[in-house]
Amino acid sequence: MELSPEEQLKTLLRARGLRFTPDRLRVFRALADAPQPLSVPALINIVATDGVNQATVYRTLEQFLAMAVVQTVLLHDGVVGYELVPPFSSHHHHFICLDCGTIQALPADSVDTALFKSLEGSGLKAMGHKIDIYGQCERCHSDTD
Ligand SMILES: [Zn+2]
Ligand SMILES: [Zn+2]
Repeated sequence: MELSPEEQLKTLLRARGLRFTPDRLRVFRALADAPQPLSVPALINIVATDGVNQATVYRTLEQFLAMAVVQTVLLHDGVVGYELVPPFSSHHHHFICLDCGTIQALPADSVDTALFKSLEGSGLKAMGHKIDIYGQCERCHSDTD
């Protein structure tokens, strides 16, 4: 039986002796609804409307990181962003514009196939990976031409 992402989160929290609180769920949903990785201030802004305080956001992110529910992505100007990882989100890669900081999700399929092939016979067992490509987005690129 497939558990919903929120049920999986509940199971993970319980395994760590943590309760599935409304605040933790709000942080999780804010991350799930975001079209791109969220910086801590952006996340704090979103959940503040539901009355979640700053300390709770920091603590929850630490717990989610330890539970491998989220991963960090380097955003524009070295700001750290957070996003959900599979199975909480679908696996994808990122293209990060160094000029304007926008992040685009890239489909992963063919790259992943090549990556896993490169490990064949190496004795290494891959558990996951993340790929962030840095450069200029289409808009910024055409501005400088
Ligand atoms: Zn750009
Ligand atoms: Zn991949």
